[in-house]
Amino acid sequence: MTRTEITWCTILPMSVALPIPSGSSRRLRWLLALPKLGIVLLLVALLSLLWLLHRNEAEEERSALIKDVLWLEQNLRFHLNGNEEQLQQLALEMADLPGRQKLFRLRAEHMLKNSPDIAQILWLDTKRQVLDALPTSHLPESDIEAFGPPVTAKAFELASRLGNRQYSEPFFLEGNRAFVEMLVPIFSERRITGMLAVIYPLDTLLANQVPWWFTEKYKVEIIDDNDLQYATKTRILGNSDLRYEIPFDPPGSGLLLRITSYHSPDNTLQRLLIAAILMLAAGVFWSLWLVRDLMKKRSQAEEALRAEHAFRAAMEDSLTVGMRARDLQGRVIYVNPAFCSMTGFSATELVDKAPPMPYWAPEQLEETYAMHQTVLAGEAPLDGFEITFMRKNGERFQALVYEAKLIDGNGKHTGWMASILDITERKRTEELARQQQEQLQFTSRLVTMGEMASTLAHELNQPLAAIASYNTGCLNLLGSGNATPQDIQPALEKIGVQAQRAGKIIRRVHDFVRKSEPKRAPCLLGEVIEDCLGFVEAEARKRHVRIECEIPPLPPIPADRLMLEQVLLNLIRNGMEAMTGMPEAYRLLRISVIADNNELILDVTDCGSGISPESRDKLFTAFFTTKPDGMGIGLSICRSIVEFHRGRLWAEDNPNSPTGSGTIFRFTLPLEAT
Ligand code: ADP
Repeated sequence: MTRTEITWCTILPMSVALPIPSGSSRRLRWLLALPKLGIVLLLVALLSLLWLLHRNEAEEERSALIKDVLWLEQNLRFHLNGNEEQLQQLALEMADLPGRQKLFRLRAEHMLKNSPDIAQILWLDTKRQVLDALPTSHLPESDIEAFGPPVTAKAFELASRLGNRQYSEPFFLEGNRAFVEMLVPIFSERRITGMLAVIYPLDTLLANQVPWWFTEKYKVEIIDDNDLQYATKTRILGNSDLRYEIPFDPPGSGLLLRITSYHSPDNTLQRLLIAAILMLAAGVFWSLWLVRDLMKKRSQAEEALRAEHAFRAAMEDSLTVGMRARDLQGRVIYVNPAFCSMTGFSATELVDKAPPMPYWAPEQLEETYAMHQTVLAGEAPLDGFEITFMRKNGERFQALVYEAKLIDGNGKHTGWMASILDITERKRTEELARQQQEQLQFTSRLVTMGEMASTLAHELNQPLAAIASYNTGCLNLLGSGNATPQDIQPALEKIGVQAQRAGKIIRRVHDFVRKSEPKRAPCLLGEVIEDCLGFVEAEARKRHVRIECEIPPLPPIPADRLMLEQVLLNLIRNGMEAMTGMPEAYRLLRISVIADNNELILDVTDCGSGISPESRDKLFTAFFTTKPDGMGIGLSICRSIVEFHRGRLWAEDNPNSPTGSGTIFRFTLPLEAT
């Protein structure tokens, strides 16, 4: 694990997580539906209000129309009645007056002047013959009487019979113009002596009697039951449903006055109001929709957060690595369950604690505090550090701690996050493996010694035999009785040399099989090689192997001398064994060392059998051997020793071997301790 920056969200403690109620989405749907319902109801209420207002207005308009119509009808009636009365008065006065014609003309002229809607006033005799007419040129009175519609004749007859004023039915003349005629009988001594007639063109009647303001608002028509139009007056074009019909009596005869209202009150404001209400409602709906969308998204985010939180909590609970967060002052702000079970303290016992922590081992308080300061200074080792912690029950355990910066959501450095591994068990296993390896090395050395025992015994035999013979010579000299000290001294000196030689052999064997802890101390590789050569000298002689050595002056290296000796001895003996089948002349073993940059490179080169491709991969595996009595642990031990010294060991073919085969075992050793 390398140090990384950890953000808050990755270690969000449970207490920090948002508490989200369950079933909130259903409640949310309800909450969202309520305002919508409210708005729909409000809209309905507003539209109903507007409809009511509109209806009231229409009612008002209708009653205003009726009022106006009644007024007009009354106006027309008043006007026609007025004319009628004037004519009645004239008829009375004309009953027995000698100068009747003059009177007729005078009054008729006066009436025509006052009532421009009268087309003509006629004086008829009982036979419907025109006695006089005003204006004379206006209508061919004879035409009316001669060719006029039968309706006038009918009215005349009725007026004569009843002796009462009578209106004719409307009739058309001059193309499409409609007229009505009013007849008033002239009595003289209770006998009808003539008839006064007034002809009204209906369009002129309307034109004169309907005021201008009325036509600004209404269309006035005179129609009959069959909807046949006789006259009309309007200033407005178009259609409207708002109309009112009232009998037009006088003149009666089924005539109707129809008034159509075009008065459209200026309802722009109302329309604007409706449009505004609809727009506002649409706006509210739209914003509600947006809110609904937002709420939906929020609810989804909450759902995701909940799932994420559950996932993180599950992850936290199942983590076997202890996690501990501290603020910039070193106060604990979070611990995960794994850390709690590792230390035996509960989260509440640890959170908010400042140094010294309850899990610090009291005997290492100073070191731990120093490390704590190093972490707070941001100088903790990137690849972690080992430290001894204490469980709640007082038990110590080895922890491997990796520290990283704690970065919050805004990218701010808020503290330190540590992942802690309990490595006590691992350490114990490693120690056990190390002890086993050591034991194996020791055993291997014993085995090597065992294998070399006979050669060494032979080697030891030589100085001992020499000592014995020098001793016999001395005794003989002393026995002759004339030996001087000068005669004996050289022999004694040689005995001393031989004894030293024997002692050296024994010391070497003793050193080699001595059991000791591996320790690295400055040692000279040249001396190690020399010692090894002393060991294998006899064996090399026995195997007829020449050993060449090329060792330049070398600086001391930090190494365990005994271990290096074991490596060299193994490689030299393997090389010698590999050359057993070779002609004696080619049995050459070369040991060379070169210093390169920061390391020494040591080659043990033989001209032996070489390594077959199938053996090459297994060469350094424990218990691989091609020898009938071999154990196959030599090279695997050599490699672990070299790696213990932070070096590398490998095998290459010897390209310069005169036999065409041969191997170079090469290993490196760093000059500086790392
Ligand atoms: P052992 O010597 O007991 O067999 P080692 O681990 O020292 O165990 O060697 C393993 C095997 O490697 C040997 O059996 C041999 O086949 C091969 N080997 C080692 N050194 C040499 C060498 N110099 N030349 C050829 N083969 C070698």
